[in-house]
Amino acid sequence: MFDPFSRSYAAARERFREAARAAAGVLQGHTLAGHGPDGCELAVDVALVGARNPRRAIVVSSGLHGVEGYFGSAVQLGWLRRLREGASSIPGGTLVVLLHAVNPFGFAWQRRANEHNVDLNRNFLDDGESYGGVPEHYYRVHDLLNPPTPPSRLDAFRLRAVWAVRRHGLSVLQDAVATGQYEHPRGLFFGGREAAASTRLVQEGFWEWTRGAEQVVHLDLHTGLGLYADYRLLIEPPHAHDLGWYRSRFDPERVVAVGGDTPYAARGVMGAWLARHAARSAYRFACLEFGTYGPLRVLAALRAENRAHHHSMPGASAHGRARRGLVECFCPASRLWRRKALGRALEVVGQAVRDG
Ligand SMILES: [Zn+2]
Repeated sequence: MFDPFSRSYAAARERFREAARAAAGVLQGHTLAGHGPDGCELAVDVALVGARNPRRAIVVSSGLHGVEGYFGSAVQLGWLRRLREGASSIPGGTLVVLLHAVNPFGFAWQRRANEHNVDLNRNFLDDGESYGGVPEHYYRVHDLLNPPTPPSRLDAFRLRAVWAVRRHGLSVLQDAVATGQYEHPRGLFFGGREAAASTRLVQEGFWEWTRGAEQVVHLDLHTGLGLYADYRLLIEPPHAHDLGWYRSRFDPERVVAVGGDTPYAARGVMGAWLARHAARSAYRFACLEFGTYGPLRVLAALRAENRAHHHSMPGASAHGRARRGLVECFCPASRLWRRKALGRALEVVGQAVRDG
């Protein structure tokens, strides 16, 4: 039976390229520096399927957060498969753009961040904006999130996190996590010191890929936040005025505005950058975010993997354990999770292609 989930970045990439070619689309491979664990090339692949001179374009991107590409790639592959089988179609005047593995290094090496430990969804700053700073009160949780030692089974992170939340309030931990920081290159949620190669590629290529379409709807696939196998369409500040539009096209209960009422809204978000630079198009963006496990388990997995990456010996068993824990938190092995989450994602993508 066809299973769109792939076991590695290299396998996912090969299958994506094959499926895109079969859909008679245009396929571009943008090779980046470095290689995967099996020596494979790292690239962002872009498939264009549908109208040559589109009125509207639907963009579906995966793997901005590397390891989340296991799920995002499966959604893209599943959609291409449906198209091939005639179970979905593309209306006239519509172009579908699939961006596969925006952070191929993270996907290949099973990290959320890129080769410079950068969270790419905090890396899209404008010229002249400074890659510096931390959220207010960040230093109350920095040491808790980033111990400079290999992971240990004895550090009781969850208890200490609960204690930190009691002491400083949930918002301090949330801000540190959601807002990103630009001062600690080995820390979690580091936004970088300059625009990363993937960032520049999206910034330079996006409007060419959408071929001048007047209407652009962009769904960026993520995992790790929310209820198990369920999803939300997270709408960030530049698009929050337009909630009615999203609610009329998608399940209104799952369309949620985020970041608007927090004083330190996340900087460097991809969708916000594209919104600011959408000169000729009406551009709408949503994070299509699927839940896996509870927030403390996911945070603990991110923390353990980041520690192992920076402070374990290569090949150490603790590193392997931390990596497996991270993959499980961003793409659970459970068949039930995969079936439900994939089915729901394909429904949302189908809705966007039909009436987005
Ligand atoms: Zn993500």
